[in-house]
Amino acid sequence: MPHAIVIGSGFGGLAAAIRLGARGYRVTVLEKLDQPGGRASVFRQDGFTFDAGPTIVTLPKLFEELWSLAGRRFEDDITLKPVEPFYRVRFDDGETFTASRDPETMRREIGRLAPDDVDGYERFMAQSKAIYGVGFEQLSNQPFHSILSMAKLLPELFRLKSYRTVYGLAASYVKDPRIRIALSFHPLFIGGNPFTTTSIYCLISHLEREYGVWCAMGGTGALVQGLAKLIEVQGNTIRYNQEVTSITVEGGAATGVKLASGETLAADIVVSNADAAWTYRHLLPAEVRRRWTDKKLGRARYSMSLFVWYFGTRRQYRGVPHHSILLGPRYKELLRDIFDRKVLAPDFSLYLHHPTATDPSLAPPGCDTFYVLSPVPNLAGGVDWAHAAEPYRRAISDFLGRTVLPGLEENVVTSRIVTPQDFHTRLRSVLGAAFGFEPVFTQSAWFRPHNRSEEVDRLYLVGAGTHPGAGLPGVLSSARVLDSVVPHGADLA
Ligand SMILES: Cc1cc2nc3c(=O)[nH]c(=O)nc-3n(C[C@H](O)[C@H](O)[C@H](O)COP(=O)(O)OP(=O)(O)OC[C@H]3O[C@@H](n4cnc5c(N)ncnc54)[C@H](O)[C@@H]3O)c2cc1C
Repeated sequence: MPHAIVIGSGFGGLAAAIRLGARGYRVTVLEKLDQPGGRASVFRQDGFTFDAGPTIVTLPKLFEELWSLAGRRFEDDITLKPVEPFYRVRFDDGETFTASRDPETMRREIGRLAPDDVDGYERFMAQSKAIYGVGFEQLSNQPFHSILSMAKLLPELFRLKSYRTVYGLAASYVKDPRIRIALSFHPLFIGGNPFTTTSIYCLISHLEREYGVWCAMGGTGALVQGLAKLIEVQGNTIRYNQEVTSITVEGGAATGVKLASGETLAADIVVSNADAAWTYRHLLPAEVRRRWTDKKLGRARYSMSLFVWYFGTRRQYRGVPHHSILLGPRYKELLRDIFDRKVLAPDFSLYLHHPTATDPSLAPPGCDTFYVLSPVPNLAGGVDWAHAAEPYRRAISDFLGRTVLPGLEENVVTSRIVTPQDFHTRLRSVLGAAFGFEPVFTQSAWFRPHNRSEEVDRLYLVGAGTHPGAGLPGVLSSARVLDSVVPHGADLA
């Protein structure tokens, strides 16, 4: 059987390994860390279980497909539970907006805050559905190797107003500033500024309503472990604590990899799930790169980063939902600070994750597990996180204590912080960007690093930095694209 090497075991790498295993390859996954999952790795501390990254699971069918490719049934290994309502948005004045799956409940909630926006909301949802049909069903599944494939879709993208931004499109349907925010913040989950991200990402509203918002019992880590097990079931291997330092190239084709230990491994194909910019900047020699030169990578726009505080409390906070968005006093200007000015603002908007609201097994009895994340500038902003982290955490803790988690600071029994510096050093992400390249139109589809490398043969890319982009549906789709660009193993044998 031909040998495939997959660099990295994020969701994209795990999915790629399973797809290659099902298509006649012997697969070796090489992972720098001591566990699978990448951004979705798990840590356990003082009896609490923390998912480090993704918590909102959408489009379960993408996971089910991987299980069936490995000859197993998804529901035998994983229990998904619907999260309903989806999330609660809390505005700075204390008013809230609860998003749920049921259209009638949503109409009532919009009507409660802004009766004049109910019609506009309905029309926005119809537009979101139309965008989903093209943006997800047609765009995410196909490779964009040629500019022609992009050109063919342009009339359709124009018809769907993709030249507008997510916020711009939402604001063209509804007037209330709070509803505009509630319908437009989603790009922040995939590294985009709602004021610059193409309105293609308005598809998320339809995707959530049509397919639901889910969480895995046992945490997102259960999905990671499940995928790692499928790789084993296929007879393939994941090797941990193995950092790839270069991709070897001969005669214009990838021939294998070199590890930090000095070991070299030969392969018929190489798939990189490492950060796409890092792959080109650090793993592939400059002399073989024509498109992704250091200069182009230096000029690219990288997503924002994240400050994440994981904490466990000795008491339970009943009534705090599984997912909350806690908005500060500023929206557009805060986003400008994060994405454009790249300064660490004194105010923030937060996402609060409270998994024990659904699955108490993630904390000791009577306790609660949380994480709170704040979008912050990537390392291009030059923030000195060694000094900034603790005062920033304290400010967030004070805010949470004043708003949704009274008495927080006295009740914290375990705590851990992740800063943009960790995205850089631990996950090897250029500028510590949490989501790779920023999802602006000029860095999407054909303009993004292709799934079949433009630089050398037999090299492929999956994960957040390549097409279609970040988020679980995006990275799982990037692996699905491989099926149409990687030759079947039997053709290489
Ligand atoms: C805090 C946070 C919350 C999020 N929440 C959500 C959410 O709720 N829902 C959602 O859909 N998405 C969410 N996302 C986005 C989503 O998690 C990511 O887009 C996705 O997990 C990235 O997967 P990936 O395949 O790109 O791989 P990554 O997770 O980036 O993994 C890449 C792997 O490659 C390894 N690696 C890198 N370089 C090398 C090397 N040289 N040699 C060997 N190994 C290497 C790394 O160690 C890592 O394990 C969130 C992200 C973060 C950070």
